[in-house]
Amino acid sequence: MTEEPGEDDAAPEVPAYPDLVERIVNLSKRRGFIFPSAEVYGGFRSTYDYGPLGVLMLRNVKDAWWRSMVQMRDDVVGIDAAILSSPRIWEASGHLANFTDPLVDCRNCHERWRADKIDGTCPNCGSTDLTEPRAFNLMFKTYAGPVEEDATVAYLRPETAQGMFVNFLNVLTTTRKKPPFGIAQVGKSFRNEITPQNFVFRTREFEQMEMEYFVPPDEADRWFHYWLDERMRWYLDLGIPAGKLRLRHHDADELSHYSAATADVEFLFPWGWDELEGIANRTDFDLKAHAAHSGERLEYFDQSTGERYVPYVIEPAAGATRTMMAFLLAAYDEDEVGGERRTVLHLDPRLAPYQVAVLPLSKKDELMPLSRQVLGILQPVAVCDFDTTQSIGRRYRRQDEVGTPYCVTVDFDSLEDHSVTVRDRDTTEQVRVPIDRLAEEIAGRLRC
Ligand code: ATP
Repeated sequence: MTEEPGEDDAAPEVPAYPDLVERIVNLSKRRGFIFPSAEVYGGFRSTYDYGPLGVLMLRNVKDAWWRSMVQMRDDVVGIDAAILSSPRIWEASGHLANFTDPLVDCRNCHERWRADKIDGTCPNCGSTDLTEPRAFNLMFKTYAGPVEEDATVAYLRPETAQGMFVNFLNVLTTTRKKPPFGIAQVGKSFRNEITPQNFVFRTREFEQMEMEYFVPPDEADRWFHYWLDERMRWYLDLGIPAGKLRLRHHDADELSHYSAATADVEFLFPWGWDELEGIANRTDFDLKAHAAHSGERLEYFDQSTGERYVPYVIEPAAGATRTMMAFLLAAYDEDEVGGERRTVLHLDPRLAPYQVAVLPLSKKDELMPLSRQVLGILQPVAVCDFDTTQSIGRRYRRQDEVGTPYCVTVDFDSLEDHSVTVRDRDTTEQVRVPIDRLAEEIAGRLRC
Protein backbone atom coordinates (compact mmCIF):
# COMPACT_ATOMS: atom_id res chain seq x y z
CA MET A 1 0.00 0.00 0.00
CA THR A 2 1.36 3.44 -0.81
CA GLU A 3 0.31 7.00 -0.19
CA GLU A 4 0.90 10.40 -1.69
CA PRO A 5 3.09 12.02 -2.89
CA GLY A 6 4.56 9.02 -4.76
CA GLU A 7 1.86 7.39 -6.89
CA ASP A 8 0.60 3.98 -5.91
CA ASP A 9 1.64 1.91 -8.89
CA ALA A 10 3.40 4.58 -10.92
CA ALA A 11 6.12 3.11 -13.12
CA PRO A 12 9.52 4.31 -11.89
CA GLU A 13 10.75 7.23 -13.98
CA VAL A 14 13.43 6.54 -16.52
CA PRO A 15 16.55 7.66 -14.65
CA ALA A 16 18.27 10.71 -16.16
CA TYR A 17 21.66 9.11 -15.57
CA PRO A 18 21.65 5.30 -15.79
CA ASP A 19 25.02 5.10 -14.03
CA LEU A 20 24.08 7.63 -11.35
CA VAL A 21 25.34 5.57 -8.40
CA GLU A 22 28.73 5.23 -10.07
CA ARG A 23 28.83 8.98 -10.74
CA ILE A 24 28.05 9.73 -7.10
CA VAL A 25 30.68 7.23 -5.93
CA ASN A 26 33.26 8.86 -8.20
CA LEU A 27 32.32 12.40 -7.28
CA SER A 28 32.36 11.47 -3.60
CA LYS A 29 35.88 10.15 -3.83
CA ARG A 30 37.22 12.82 -6.19
CA ARG A 31 35.88 15.72 -4.14
CA GLY A 32 36.28 14.39 -0.62
CA PHE A 33 32.76 13.38 0.40
CA ILE A 34 33.28 9.65 0.99
CA PHE A 35 36.42 7.51 0.67
CA PRO A 36 36.69 3.74 0.81
CA SER A 37 38.06 3.02 4.28
CA ALA A 38 41.69 1.88 4.67
CA GLU A 39 42.19 2.51 0.96
CA VAL A 40 45.98 2.44 1.28
CA TYR A 41 45.56 -1.20 2.31
CA GLY A 42 43.15 -1.96 -0.52
CA GLY A 43 39.99 -1.06 1.40
CA PHE A 44 38.26 -2.85 4.24
CA ARG A 45 35.05 -4.81 3.83
CA SER A 46 32.63 -2.17 2.53
CA THR A 47 33.50 0.40 5.18
CA TYR A 48 33.74 4.08 4.34
CA ASP A 49 35.37 7.21 5.70
CA TYR A 50 33.74 10.61 5.40
CA GLY A 51 36.13 13.22 4.02
CA PRO A 52 36.27 17.00 4.49
CA LEU A 53 33.10 17.65 2.48
CA GLY A 54 31.28 14.47 3.54
CA VAL A 55 31.68 15.20 7.22
CA LEU A 56 30.17 18.65 6.68
CA MET A 57 27.24 17.31 4.70
CA LEU A 58 26.54 14.39 7.03
CA ARG A 59 26.59 16.78 9.96
CA ASN A 60 24.13 19.01 8.10
CA VAL A 61 21.77 16.06 7.56
CA LYS A 62 21.91 15.19 11.25
CA ASP A 63 21.55 18.84 12.31
CA ALA A 64 18.52 19.31 10.04
CA TRP A 65 16.93 16.26 11.66
CA TRP A 66 17.80 17.41 15.20
CA ARG A 67 16.50 20.88 14.49
CA SER A 68 13.13 19.63 13.31
CA MET A 69 12.78 16.77 15.81
CA VAL A 70 14.21 18.40 18.97
CA GLN A 71 15.09 22.08 18.69
CA MET A 72 11.82 23.26 17.14
CA ARG A 73 9.65 21.32 19.62
CA ASP A 74 9.01 21.46 23.33
CA ASP A 75 7.89 17.84 23.60
CA VAL A 76 11.09 16.06 22.51
CA VAL A 77 14.44 15.85 24.32
CA GLY A 78 17.70 14.25 23.24
CA ILE A 79 20.12 11.73 24.68
CA ASP A 80 23.42 10.19 23.62
CA ALA A 81 23.60 6.63 24.96
CA ALA A 82 26.54 4.23 25.01
CA ILE A 83 27.36 2.24 21.88
CA LEU A 84 28.94 -0.57 23.88
CA SER A 85 26.01 -2.22 25.51
CA SER A 86 24.92 -4.86 27.98
CA PRO A 87 23.67 -8.21 26.65
CA ARG A 88 20.72 -7.81 29.00
CA ILE A 89 19.38 -4.99 26.85
CA TRP A 90 19.44 -7.17 23.76
CA GLU A 91 18.05 -10.16 25.55
CA ALA A 92 15.04 -8.11 26.71
CA SER A 93 14.54 -6.40 23.35
CA GLY A 94 14.51 -9.74 21.53
CA HIS A 95 17.60 -8.93 19.43
CA LEU A 96 19.63 -11.83 20.79
CA ALA A 97 16.95 -14.28 19.72
CA ASN A 98 15.44 -12.58 16.70
CA PHE A 99 17.74 -10.02 15.10
CA THR A 100 18.71 -12.38 12.35
CA ASP A 101 18.75 -12.53 8.58
CA PRO A 102 18.32 -15.78 6.65
CA LEU A 103 21.79 -16.76 5.37
CA VAL A 104 22.30 -19.11 2.42
CA ASP A 105 25.52 -20.41 0.86
CA CYS A 106 25.94 -21.06 -2.82
CA ARG A 107 27.33 -24.58 -3.09
CA ASN A 108 28.82 -23.78 -6.47
CA CYS A 109 30.83 -20.55 -5.91
CA HIS A 110 30.64 -20.44 -2.08
CA GLU A 111 29.32 -16.85 -1.96
CA ARG A 112 26.92 -16.07 0.89
CA TRP A 113 23.62 -14.26 0.48
CA ARG A 114 20.58 -12.99 2.34
CA ALA A 115 17.89 -15.44 1.23
CA ASP A 116 15.14 -12.79 1.31
CA LYS A 117 17.10 -10.51 -1.07
CA ILE A 118 17.76 -13.04 -3.85
CA ASP A 119 15.42 -15.03 -6.05
CA GLY A 120 16.56 -18.55 -5.29
CA THR A 121 19.49 -18.03 -7.65
CA CYS A 122 23.05 -17.05 -6.74
CA PRO A 123 23.55 -13.46 -8.04
CA ASN A 124 27.25 -14.25 -8.52
CA CYS A 125 27.22 -17.44 -10.62
CA GLY A 126 23.54 -18.11 -11.32
CA SER A 127 23.50 -21.47 -9.56
CA THR A 128 20.30 -22.61 -7.87
CA ASP A 129 22.24 -25.03 -5.67
CA LEU A 130 21.87 -23.09 -2.42
CA THR A 131 21.91 -24.35 1.17
CA GLU A 132 18.80 -24.15 3.35
CA PRO A 133 18.57 -20.70 4.97
CA ARG A 134 19.89 -20.49 8.52
CA ALA A 135 19.38 -17.65 11.00
CA PHE A 136 22.43 -15.39 11.20
CA ASN A 137 22.51 -12.87 14.08
CA LEU A 138 23.53 -9.41 12.88
CA MET A 139 24.91 -8.10 16.16
CA PHE A 140 28.63 -7.48 16.59
CA LYS A 141 29.81 -9.24 19.72
CA THR A 142 32.87 -8.16 21.71
CA TYR A 143 34.28 -8.25 25.26
CA ALA A 144 34.26 -5.38 27.74
CA GLY A 145 37.39 -5.95 29.79
CA PRO A 146 40.63 -7.86 29.37
CA VAL A 147 39.19 -11.35 29.78
CA GLU A 148 37.25 -12.96 26.96
CA GLU A 149 34.57 -14.94 28.79
CA ASP A 150 30.78 -15.12 28.92
CA ALA A 151 30.61 -12.65 31.80
CA THR A 152 32.32 -9.89 29.78
CA VAL A 153 30.34 -10.21 26.55
CA ALA A 154 29.12 -6.88 25.19
CA TYR A 155 27.47 -5.86 21.95
CA LEU A 156 27.87 -2.89 19.66
CA ARG A 157 24.33 -1.54 19.47
CA PRO A 158 22.53 -2.52 16.26
CA GLU A 159 20.08 0.40 16.70
CA THR A 160 19.94 3.50 18.86
CA ALA A 161 16.33 2.91 19.94
CA GLN A 162 17.00 0.73 22.98
CA GLY A 163 19.02 3.56 24.55
CA MET A 164 15.79 5.54 24.75
CA PHE A 165 13.79 2.70 26.32
CA VAL A 166 16.32 1.89 29.02
CA ASN A 167 16.59 5.61 29.86
CA PHE A 168 12.82 6.15 29.88
CA LEU A 169 12.61 6.59 33.67
CA ASN A 170 15.78 8.69 33.85
CA VAL A 171 14.40 11.10 31.28
CA LEU A 172 10.93 11.14 32.81
CA THR A 173 12.21 12.02 36.28
CA THR A 174 14.85 14.53 35.18
CA THR A 175 12.73 16.44 32.65
CA ARG A 176 9.24 16.07 34.16
CA LYS A 177 7.87 15.44 30.67
CA LYS A 178 4.54 13.72 30.33
CA PRO A 179 3.12 11.78 27.40
CA PRO A 180 2.96 12.65 24.62
CA PHE A 181 6.71 13.28 24.65
CA GLY A 182 9.72 11.96 22.79
CA ILE A 183 13.35 11.01 23.28
CA ALA A 184 15.62 11.45 20.29
CA GLN A 185 19.10 10.21 19.50
CA VAL A 186 21.55 10.40 16.62
CA GLY A 187 24.53 8.10 16.45
CA LYS A 188 26.35 5.09 15.13
CA SER A 189 24.84 1.64 14.91
CA PHE A 190 26.45 -1.59 13.79
CA ARG A 191 25.01 -4.57 11.94
CA ASN A 192 27.01 -7.45 10.59
CA GLU A 193 25.14 -7.29 7.28
CA ILE A 194 25.62 -10.39 5.14
CA THR A 195 25.81 -8.35 1.95
CA PRO A 196 26.63 -4.68 2.43
CA GLN A 197 25.85 -3.01 -0.87
CA ASN A 198 25.09 0.02 -2.98
CA PHE A 199 27.80 2.28 -1.59
CA VAL A 200 26.64 3.68 1.78
CA PHE A 201 23.05 2.47 1.36
CA ARG A 202 23.82 -0.65 3.37
CA THR A 203 27.00 -0.77 5.43
CA ARG A 204 28.01 -2.57 8.62
CA GLU A 205 28.71 0.68 10.45
CA PHE A 206 26.22 3.47 9.85
CA GLU A 207 24.46 6.35 11.55
CA GLN A 208 20.85 6.46 12.64
CA MET A 209 18.47 9.25 13.64
CA GLU A 210 15.75 7.80 15.81
CA MET A 211 13.04 9.14 18.06
CA GLU A 212 10.77 7.28 20.47
CA TYR A 213 7.52 9.17 21.04
CA PHE A 214 5.67 7.97 24.16
CA VAL A 215 1.90 8.43 24.02
CA PRO A 216 -1.25 7.35 25.90
CA PRO A 217 -2.24 4.01 24.30
CA ASP A 218 -5.57 5.28 22.98
CA GLU A 219 -3.80 8.11 21.11
CA ALA A 220 -1.23 5.89 19.39
CA ASP A 221 -2.97 5.64 16.04
CA ARG A 222 -3.41 9.40 15.76
CA TRP A 223 0.25 10.05 16.59
CA PHE A 224 1.38 7.36 14.15
CA HIS A 225 -0.33 9.26 11.33
CA TYR A 226 0.95 12.56 12.64
CA TRP A 227 4.56 11.31 12.41
CA LEU A 228 4.02 9.87 8.93
CA ASP A 229 3.06 13.37 7.75
CA GLU A 230 5.83 15.12 9.66
CA ARG A 231 8.56 12.84 8.37
CA MET A 232 7.43 13.00 4.75
CA ARG A 233 7.39 16.77 5.02
CA TRP A 234 11.00 16.78 6.30
CA TYR A 235 12.39 15.06 3.20
CA LEU A 236 10.30 17.18 0.82
CA ASP A 237 11.29 20.40 2.57
CA LEU A 238 14.98 19.52 2.15
CA GLY A 239 14.61 19.00 -1.56
CA ILE A 240 13.69 15.38 -2.28
CA PRO A 241 11.30 15.69 -5.28
CA ALA A 242 7.75 14.49 -4.52
CA GLY A 243 7.93 12.01 -7.41
CA LYS A 244 10.88 10.27 -5.78
CA LEU A 245 9.35 9.85 -2.33
CA ARG A 246 6.53 7.63 -1.13
CA LEU A 247 5.13 5.95 1.94
CA ARG A 248 4.71 2.19 1.84
CA HIS A 249 2.53 0.65 4.51
CA HIS A 250 3.53 -2.82 5.67
CA ASP A 251 0.94 -5.52 5.17
CA ALA A 252 -0.08 -7.47 8.27
CA ASP A 253 2.21 -10.41 7.45
CA GLU A 254 5.23 -8.09 7.04
CA LEU A 255 4.87 -6.41 10.44
CA SER A 256 7.53 -7.00 13.11
CA HIS A 257 6.30 -8.92 16.14
CA TYR A 258 6.16 -5.73 18.26
CA SER A 259 4.43 -3.53 15.71
CA ALA A 260 0.75 -2.61 15.39
CA ALA A 261 1.45 -0.59 12.23
CA THR A 262 4.55 0.28 10.21
CA ALA A 263 5.16 2.37 7.13
CA ASP A 264 8.44 2.97 5.34
CA VAL A 265 9.45 6.24 3.78
CA GLU A 266 10.89 5.12 0.45
CA PHE A 267 13.08 6.92 -2.07
CA LEU A 268 13.30 6.07 -5.74
CA PHE A 269 16.92 4.91 -5.87
CA PRO A 270 18.44 4.10 -9.28
CA TRP A 271 17.74 0.40 -8.53
CA GLY A 272 14.11 1.04 -7.52
CA TRP A 273 12.10 2.06 -4.46
CA ASP A 274 13.94 1.41 -1.23
CA GLU A 275 13.71 2.38 2.43
CA LEU A 276 15.01 5.59 3.97
CA GLU A 277 13.10 5.39 7.21
CA GLY A 278 10.70 3.12 9.07
CA ILE A 279 7.89 4.61 11.15
CA ALA A 280 6.29 2.15 13.55
CA ASN A 281 3.67 1.95 16.25
CA ARG A 282 5.69 -0.30 18.60
CA THR A 283 2.85 -0.48 21.15
CA ASP A 284 4.05 -1.01 24.75
CA PHE A 285 6.28 -3.92 23.70
CA ASP A 286 9.66 -2.41 24.55
CA LEU A 287 8.84 -0.80 27.89
CA LYS A 288 7.04 -3.96 29.03
CA ALA A 289 9.93 -6.18 27.91
CA HIS A 290 12.51 -4.08 29.77
CA ALA A 291 10.23 -3.87 32.83
CA ALA A 292 9.89 -7.67 32.87
CA HIS A 293 13.64 -8.24 32.50
CA SER A 294 14.87 -5.49 34.83
CA GLY A 295 12.18 -5.56 37.50
CA GLU A 296 11.77 -1.75 37.16
CA ARG A 297 8.31 -0.23 36.75
CA LEU A 298 8.61 1.47 33.38
CA GLU A 299 5.32 3.32 33.51
CA TYR A 300 3.92 6.80 33.57
CA PHE A 301 2.08 7.91 36.68
CA ASP A 302 -0.24 10.84 36.14
CA GLN A 303 -0.44 12.62 39.48
CA SER A 304 -3.41 14.73 38.46
CA THR A 305 -5.64 11.74 37.69
CA GLY A 306 -3.93 9.03 39.76
CA GLU A 307 -3.72 6.99 36.56
CA ARG A 308 -0.77 4.67 35.93
CA TYR A 309 -0.06 3.22 32.48
CA VAL A 310 2.62 1.94 30.12
CA PRO A 311 2.79 4.36 27.18
CA TYR A 312 2.69 3.20 23.58
CA VAL A 313 5.60 4.25 21.38
CA ILE A 314 5.64 5.73 17.90
CA GLU A 315 9.11 5.46 16.39
CA PRO A 316 10.38 7.32 13.33
CA ALA A 317 13.73 5.58 12.64
CA ALA A 318 15.87 7.00 9.85
CA GLY A 319 19.39 6.39 8.56
CA ALA A 320 21.64 9.46 8.38
CA THR A 321 24.24 7.97 6.05
CA ARG A 322 21.63 6.37 3.78
CA THR A 323 19.66 9.60 3.69
CA MET A 324 22.77 11.58 2.80
CA MET A 325 23.22 9.29 -0.20
CA ALA A 326 19.60 9.91 -1.24
CA PHE A 327 20.12 13.68 -1.02
CA LEU A 328 23.24 13.39 -3.21
CA LEU A 329 21.42 11.25 -5.78
CA ALA A 330 18.44 13.61 -5.88
CA ALA A 331 20.65 16.70 -6.21
CA TYR A 332 22.89 15.48 -9.04
CA ASP A 333 22.51 17.12 -12.43
CA GLU A 334 24.48 18.10 -15.47
CA ASP A 335 23.65 21.13 -17.57
CA GLU A 336 25.22 23.76 -19.75
CA VAL A 337 26.36 27.22 -18.71
CA GLY A 338 27.64 29.59 -21.39
CA GLY A 339 28.11 26.69 -23.80
CA GLU A 340 30.13 24.72 -21.25
CA ARG A 341 28.98 21.52 -19.59
CA ARG A 342 28.93 21.48 -15.81
CA THR A 343 28.06 19.03 -13.07
CA VAL A 344 25.96 20.58 -10.35
CA LEU A 345 24.54 19.39 -7.05
CA HIS A 346 21.29 21.25 -6.42
CA LEU A 347 21.58 20.67 -2.68
CA ASP A 348 19.43 22.62 -0.29
CA PRO A 349 21.74 25.28 1.27
CA ARG A 350 21.10 23.68 4.68
CA LEU A 351 22.67 20.44 3.42
CA ALA A 352 25.46 21.74 1.19
CA PRO A 353 28.95 21.18 2.66
CA TYR A 354 29.91 24.79 1.98
CA GLN A 355 27.27 27.47 1.84
CA VAL A 356 29.62 30.11 0.44
CA ALA A 357 32.91 30.10 -1.42
CA VAL A 358 35.01 33.24 -1.24
CA LEU A 359 37.02 33.54 -4.44
CA PRO A 360 39.62 36.27 -5.03
CA LEU A 361 39.56 36.91 -8.79
CA SER A 362 43.33 36.65 -8.94
CA LYS A 363 46.06 35.33 -6.70
CA LYS A 364 47.74 38.75 -6.75
CA ASP A 365 48.78 39.98 -3.31
CA GLU A 366 46.77 43.17 -3.54
CA LEU A 367 43.44 41.24 -3.47
CA MET A 368 44.32 39.06 -0.49
CA PRO A 369 43.74 41.42 2.47
CA LEU A 370 40.24 42.37 1.28
CA SER A 371 39.44 38.75 0.34
CA ARG A 372 40.43 37.55 3.80
CA GLN A 373 38.40 40.38 5.33
CA VAL A 374 35.34 39.21 3.34
CA LEU A 375 35.95 35.64 4.48
CA GLY A 376 36.10 36.83 8.09
CA ILE A 377 32.79 38.66 7.66
CA LEU A 378 31.07 35.57 6.25
CA GLN A 379 32.47 32.80 8.46
CA PRO A 380 30.18 33.60 11.40
CA VAL A 381 27.05 33.29 9.21
CA ALA A 382 27.98 30.47 6.81
CA VAL A 383 30.36 27.55 6.34
CA CYS A 384 32.87 28.97 3.85
CA ASP A 385 35.46 27.67 1.45
CA PHE A 386 38.31 29.92 0.34
CA ASP A 387 39.84 29.06 -3.00
CA THR A 388 42.55 30.96 -4.86
CA THR A 389 43.63 28.30 -7.36
CA GLN A 390 42.87 28.16 -11.11
CA SER A 391 40.72 30.42 -13.27
CA ILE A 392 37.52 31.85 -11.86
CA GLY A 393 35.42 29.80 -14.33
CA ARG A 394 37.07 26.58 -13.18
CA ARG A 395 36.52 27.53 -9.55
CA TYR A 396 32.80 28.19 -10.16
CA ARG A 397 32.54 24.72 -11.75
CA ARG A 398 34.28 23.14 -8.77
CA GLN A 399 31.89 24.81 -6.37
CA ASP A 400 28.85 23.87 -8.48
CA GLU A 401 29.99 20.26 -8.46
CA VAL A 402 29.95 20.11 -4.65
CA GLY A 403 26.71 22.07 -4.34
CA THR A 404 27.96 25.40 -2.92
CA PRO A 405 24.92 27.69 -3.28
CA TYR A 406 26.83 30.99 -3.41
CA CYS A 407 30.19 32.14 -4.68
CA VAL A 408 31.48 35.55 -3.58
CA THR A 409 34.10 36.99 -5.89
CA VAL A 410 36.47 39.72 -4.82
CA ASP A 411 37.89 41.58 -7.85
CA PHE A 412 39.99 44.65 -8.49
CA ASP A 413 36.91 46.90 -8.58
CA SER A 414 36.17 45.70 -5.05
CA LEU A 415 39.20 47.67 -3.86
CA GLU A 416 37.49 50.82 -5.18
CA ASP A 417 33.76 50.27 -4.70
CA HIS A 418 33.89 48.00 -1.61
CA SER A 419 31.48 45.62 -3.27
CA VAL A 420 31.73 41.99 -4.32
CA THR A 421 29.94 39.76 -6.81
CA VAL A 422 27.55 37.16 -5.45
CA ARG A 423 26.84 34.30 -7.86
CA ASP A 424 23.89 31.94 -7.47
CA ARG A 425 24.69 28.25 -8.16
CA ASP A 426 21.32 27.35 -9.69
CA THR A 427 20.61 30.40 -11.85
CA THR A 428 24.29 31.43 -12.26
CA GLU A 429 22.97 34.98 -11.88
CA GLN A 430 25.49 37.46 -10.50
CA VAL A 431 24.75 40.58 -8.46
CA ARG A 432 27.00 43.21 -6.95
CA VAL A 433 26.65 43.59 -3.17
CA PRO A 434 28.37 46.16 -0.92
CA ILE A 435 30.69 44.44 1.55
CA ASP A 436 29.06 46.15 4.52
CA ARG A 437 25.72 44.53 3.56
CA LEU A 438 27.19 41.15 2.55
CA ALA A 439 26.68 39.19 5.79
CA GLU A 440 23.06 40.31 5.96
CA GLU A 441 22.50 39.52 2.27
CA ILE A 442 23.98 36.01 2.54
CA ALA A 443 22.24 35.23 5.84
CA GLY A 444 18.94 36.34 4.28
CA ARG A 445 19.43 34.14 1.22
CA LEU A 446 20.38 31.14 3.36
CA ARG A 447 17.28 31.55 5.51
CA CYS A 448 14.93 31.33 2.49
P1 ATP B 1 16.71 -2.90 5.96
O1 ATP B 1 15.39 -3.58 5.74
O2 ATP B 1 17.13 -1.98 4.82
O3 ATP B 1 17.80 -3.81 6.42
P2 ATP B 1 15.67 -2.15 8.49
O4 ATP B 1 14.21 -2.10 8.18
O5 ATP B 1 16.24 -3.29 9.22
O6 ATP B 1 16.50 -1.87 7.14
P3 ATP B 1 15.58 -0.28 10.62
O7 ATP B 1 15.97 -1.24 11.66
O8 ATP B 1 14.15 0.15 10.52
O9 ATP B 1 16.08 -0.79 9.21
O10 ATP B 1 16.54 0.98 10.73
C1 ATP B 1 16.10 2.30 10.48
C2 ATP B 1 16.90 2.95 9.39
O11 ATP B 1 18.30 2.80 9.62
C3 ATP B 1 16.69 2.35 8.00
O12 ATP B 1 15.53 2.86 7.41
C4 ATP B 1 17.94 2.81 7.27
O13 ATP B 1 17.82 4.15 6.83
C5 ATP B 1 18.98 2.75 8.38
N1 ATP B 1 19.75 1.51 8.23
C6 ATP B 1 19.42 0.29 8.70
N2 ATP B 1 20.38 -0.61 8.40
C7 ATP B 1 21.33 0.07 7.71
C8 ATP B 1 22.59 -0.30 7.12
N3 ATP B 1 23.05 -1.53 7.20
N4 ATP B 1 23.30 0.66 6.49
C9 ATP B 1 22.85 1.96 6.42
N5 ATP B 1 21.69 2.36 6.97
C10 ATP B 1 20.93 1.44 7.60
